[in-house]
Amino acid sequence: MEIFVAPCLLNTKLRPRPPRSKIRPDTHIAPPPHPESPLFDFYDRMHPMFRNYREALIRLFYPAACEVCRVNLDLEEKILCRRCAGDLDALACPMEKALVDERFEHLDHAWTVYAYSSPVKELLRGVKYARKDYLLKACQKRAIRLAQAVTSDFWYDCILPIPIDRLKLMKRHFNQAEILATMLAPWLTPPVERSLLIKHRAIPSQTSLSQCERAINIYGAFKLKRPKKVLGRSFLLLDDVLTTGATANEAARLLKIHGARRVDFLALARAASPDYKNSLRFAPSADKILSVHS
Ligand SMILES: [Zn+2]
Repeated sequence: MEIFVAPCLLNTKLRPRPPRSKIRPDTHIAPPPHPESPLFDFYDRMHPMFRNYREALIRLFYPAACEVCRVNLDLEEKILCRRCAGDLDALACPMEKALVDERFEHLDHAWTVYAYSSPVKELLRGVKYARKDYLLKACQKRAIRLAQAVTSDFWYDCILPIPIDRLKLMKRHFNQAEILATMLAPWLTPPVERSLLIKHRAIPSQTSLSQCERAINIYGAFKLKRPKKVLGRSFLLLDDVLTTGATANEAARLLKIHGARRVDFLALARAASPDYKNSLRFAPSADKILSVHS
């Protein structure tokens, strides 16, 4: 329990609290007994309700539903029911096919974790339009695995989440790419740089635009806060969805103008817009992702 003490009573400077994570922490699960302990068998056979007593108590009053199909969740299920979690797993691109086999003008390479289809679609829409940033946790394991493979094979000075403009940030309260970066950061070596790349103007929605219109729409929307920090460095851009790649390509263009050595892109999902379907091709071999490209 925290006791409030008026700052004037203390002869010390007040330190600002570290910012709270927007990701909802995992519910408390009591640690299991040691496997050699006589309690272990009993614990193993016990109903999950007793193992996860706090969650059980909460769900008694507030039953949790699957975020996609709305069926009630079992105690051991989180965010998605078993069926939707299985569907989500089935959408994951195998590691050897995660590299997007498509040339971008300024981006060196792009990787995606999932194909943009149900339930990934519902999850990412929930994050964007219903402010449910915790839904990203459903995709965390696969995203970590791919990001680790990419960052262990290529050197990056830092990870740059694709920024959103101030107006969108006020509406949504968070940038989903930043939340994704925060989620992945503890498992990756390159640090996450949140303030280097900024989006200094709002642009009309890209949803109904063609590839060419998107590229024009986004042109000049990004700005660098400290351009001198870019020279000779390598960056991994991070975002939730890759559609035509116009946004990431524009960010890469700006970084390359200021002397970036290499700019790659990792997105959670790969969407194919109708006029772009034919270019949705993935690289056929595993060594493409895990070997250095010249
Ligand atoms: Zn479900």
